[in-house]
Amino acid sequence: MSLSENEVLEIFTKTEALLNGHFLLTSGRHSDKYFQCAKVLQYPNYTEQVCSNIADFFNDFDIDTVIAPAMGGIIVGNEVARQLGKRSIFTEREEKIMTLRRGFTLKKGEKVLVCEDVVTTGGSVFEVINIVKQLGAEVVGIGFIVDRSNGKVNFGYPQKNTLTVEVISYPPDDCPLCKENKIPLVKPGSRKVTK
Ligand code: ZN
Repeated sequence: MSLSENEVLEIFTKTEALLNGHFLLTSGRHSDKYFQCAKVLQYPNYTEQVCSNIADFFNDFDIDTVIAPAMGGIIVGNEVARQLGKRSIFTEREEKIMTLRRGFTLKKGEKVLVCEDVVTTGGSVFEVINIVKQLGAEVVGIGFIVDRSNGKVNFGYPQKNTLTVEVISYPPDDCPLCKENKIPLVKPGSRKVTK
């Protein structure tokens, strides 16, 4: 059963995966939003719910195997594969190069769904697509939880995401929230978080 965008957003808010306030990001920049998809995926029941949108979308596609890049994609790929009743494998970086290890293989002509948690530039997904193609297997689609590309990423295959999140950040000396001086700056993960 697929969730509406509002229901997905509710899960992200409930699990504090998406917070509104005034945040110091790890880059040193400030933002009015904090976003961490792993906070949703730490709850298997929420993972099941948000992944159902991807599984439902690809339900009628001819798929043999789901593949995902480590780390973020593994949970999503595994849950989507479970719901579709398919095999689940993952790629990982070895000396910065995305590879298929642990005895995982793809056969020629095997039909593959690529999954990921968060897509910003789509870099990891494009690397996985290349691995699939190099092995002579066939990409049938791309499923991911959150689009942070503001709808810009186009993988060239049927693609489905469950939520679009745009996080705008500012340099500390040009932050409108600092200028307003109403909401104290917090570091995500610390207790003092304004909602
Ligand atoms: Zn600020």
